[in-house]
Amino acid sequence: MKSLQDPVSKLRGVGPKTVDNLKTLGIETVEDLLTYFPARYDDFAPTNLETARDKQKITVHGTVVSEPMMSRFGYRRTRLAFRLMVGRHVVQAVYFNQPYLKSHVVLNHDVTVMGSWNAARQEIQGTKLLSNNNQQEMGAIYPANKNVHQATIRKLIKIAYQNYSTVIATLLPINLRQRYQLLDRKTMIHDMHFPKDGQAAKAARRTAAYEEFFLFQLRLQAIRRAHRQKDGNQILYNNDELRGFIKTIPFELTAAQKRVVNEICRDLRQPYQMNRLLQGDVGSGKTIVAAIAIYATIIDGYQAALMAPTEILAAQHAQKLAGVFDGTHVNVGLLTGSMNTKQKREMLNGIKNGTINLVVGTHALIQDQVEFANLGLAIIDEQHRFGVHQREQLRMKGEQPDILAMTATPIPRTLAITSYGEMDISVIDELPAGRQPIKTTWLKENQSSEALKFLKAQLATGAQVYVVSPLIEQSEALDVQNATDLYQEFAEYFEPDYKVGLLHGRMDNDQKEQVMQDFKDNKIQVMVATTVIEVGVDNPNATVMLIYDADRFGLAQLHQLRGRVGRGQRQSYCLLIADPKSEEGKKRMQTMVETTDGFVVAQRDLELRGSGDVLGSKQSGIPDFKVGDPVADLKIIQIARSDAGTLINTPNWDQKDENQPLVYYLKRHELTTHFD
Ligand code: ADP
Ligand code: MG
Repeated sequence: MKSLQDPVSKLRGVGPKTVDNLKTLGIETVEDLLTYFPARYDDFAPTNLETARDKQKITVHGTVVSEPMMSRFGYRRTRLAFRLMVGRHVVQAVYFNQPYLKSHVVLNHDVTVMGSWNAARQEIQGTKLLSNNNQQEMGAIYPANKNVHQATIRKLIKIAYQNYSTVIATLLPINLRQRYQLLDRKTMIHDMHFPKDGQAAKAARRTAAYEEFFLFQLRLQAIRRAHRQKDGNQILYNNDELRGFIKTIPFELTAAQKRVVNEICRDLRQPYQMNRLLQGDVGSGKTIVAAIAIYATIIDGYQAALMAPTEILAAQHAQKLAGVFDGTHVNVGLLTGSMNTKQKREMLNGIKNGTINLVVGTHALIQDQVEFANLGLAIIDEQHRFGVHQREQLRMKGEQPDILAMTATPIPRTLAITSYGEMDISVIDELPAGRQPIKTTWLKENQSSEALKFLKAQLATGAQVYVVSPLIEQSEALDVQNATDLYQEFAEYFEPDYKVGLLHGRMDNDQKEQVMQDFKDNKIQVMVATTVIEVGVDNPNATVMLIYDADRFGLAQLHQLRGRVGRGQRQSYCLLIADPKSEEGKKRMQTMVETTDGFVVAQRDLELRGSGDVLGSKQSGIPDFKVGDPVADLKIIQIARSDAGTLINTPNWDQKDENQPLVYYLKRHELTTHFD
C-alpha cells in the first residue's frame, strides 16, 4: 500500500545520494516532499503582443509552427530558432547558447517562451523556455540549496504528485472546510505546486496556512490534554499556613498578583501536572508570586527549584528569597556553574538528601549530577532565555513536577497563546500601586552633556543611576572595552562625590556579586554596565537608566533595560542617547518615548521587524511555520486555535470515521510532540 509516509527512495530516480541531499532540506518522506511548498512563483501570465514595447520582458504561450533550427558559430556558440504561433501572430523565437533546449521544442507542441521583445523584427530573444506546461501561468520557485537544485525539486515533486495523489487524504474536517471554503488536501497540494494562475495559488495558500495552524494547534492541545490526564503530584499545602506566610510580605499584593496566585495554587492542588506560563511586564512583581508557590510546595514536603538565565540573577534571587523566607523552614541553596568543586558537592548532597528544599540556580540545575529528593515545583525565570529543551530537562528532574515558566518578554497576548498553546497562561497586567510611569527622553549625541547634568541632579537627591555602554557588533571583548572606557570617564567626572562601579560579563562571579551588592547597599551610586544588567536586576532606589548608542539595541532589549528603573516609589527616567541613521532606528526611539507598555512595545517591534526576525529564533520556542506567517495571519491562527479546541473537546471525536486521518496524524507526531 502506498502511503505518504513512504521514504522518498520509493520514487523513481531517487537513489541513496539524492536521499541524502534531500535530507539537507528536511525532506525524508513523500509527504515532506509534497508539502515542500514554493517560496514564490514566477508569473508566467502572458503578455499582450499588440501592446508590448520594444525591449520589454515578455512571456507568451504559443504553438511551435516550424522545425527548430540550430546553428553553430564561433567558438562553441549556438543559436536555436523557431517560429511560434501566438494567438493570431507568428513570431520568431531565438535562444543563444542553450543548445539543450532543442529537444524541448517540438513541432505542433505548446511552449511558453520568456525573453526580451524585439518589436521591429517581431522576435523574442529567449531567456527561459517551458514545454508542456498546460498553460500554467505560475512557475513555482522552491527554496533550494547547493545539494539540491530547483529543477530537481520541481521534477521530484511532479513525480511524487503523479504517483501519490490518489492517497492524499484530506485532514481537515468537512464542516470546517465548508465554513471557510477551503480546498480538499489533494487540490491544495496540486495548486500550491502547479497553480493555473495567481488566483489558484492564493486559494491554495489560504487552505495550506489554515491547515498548518490547525494541525499545530491540534498537537499543542493534544499535549495539553495529555499532561492534564497524566498523574502529577498533588501539593496539598495547609491553607492557613500559606496565608500566614503571605501576611509577612511587607506590601499588599496587587489584584493581578492575587489572581495569578489563585490560578497557580489551584493547579498545585490538582492531581495533574501544572504547565503554566506566567507573563508580566518588567517590574510587575513575578518573583513574589513565585515565592508564594514555592512556599506552598515546601510546606507540603516537596522541594522547589528556580532556574534563572544568568549567575547575577540567580544570586540575586537566592539572596532575595532567603530574606523572604527568613524564619521559615525553607532552606535556600544556590547552584551555579562557577562554584568550586567542594561547594558544589555539598550543594548536590543537600539537594539529594532534601535538606535543601529550595534550589536556585542557572543552567547548572539541569546537569546530570543534579538529583533531587522530591522535586515538586520547577520554576523557570525569564524563560524566553531558555530553549524548550532546557525546560524539558528541568521537568525531568522530578516525577511530573509542576512547571511554572515566567517571562517578561513582551510578546503580544495572542501570539503568546499561539506559541505557548500547550501551556495555561496567567497574566499580571498591573503594576504595583504608587509606581509612576518611567519618563523616557531621547537625546542626540551632541546633547549628552545635558544627560550628565541631569544625572548629577538626580544623584544629589539621593538616587542611584545605571549607565549602559554601547553594544559593539556582537563582540564581547569590545563591549567590555567600551564599558571600561566609559567607566573611566564617569569616574573622572563623578568621583569623589559619587562612587562609580563597573559591571560586565568578563568579571568573575565574586567580583560581579560584590559590585551588585555595593550598588544595592548604595556604596556605589553610578553603575556603568554592559547588557549583563538586562535581565532581572532589582534595585528600587535606582531611578535613571542612561543608554548610550541606544539605537544599537532592539526594542525588546531597550524595554528590559528600562525596566531596571521605576521599581520603587520614586519618579524614574530613561535617557536614550542616539543618532539613528535608519528610519527603523528612529521609530524604535520614538516608540520608547511614546509608551512604557510592554505589549505595545512588542507589537511595534513585530511591525518594524516582521515576524521572521522576532519569532524566527528557535530559542524562543516559537515554531517556524512553512506557509503561515504568525503575524500577518494572526486572525487565521486564532480561528484555527479555537476550531482545534472545539474539535478535541468534542466527546469521541477520535472515534468518527471522518476524523481518522487527523487521529493518525496525531499518533504519528506523538513522539515529536514538541515543536523543536
Ligand atoms: P519582575 O516581574 O520584573 O520580576 P520583581 O518580582 O522583581 O518584578 O518585582 C519588582 C519590584 O517590585 C521588587 O522590588 C518587588 O519587591 C516589588 N513588588 C512586587 N510586588 C509588589 C507589590 N504588590 N507592591 C509593592 N511592591 C511590589
Ligand atoms: Mg524578574
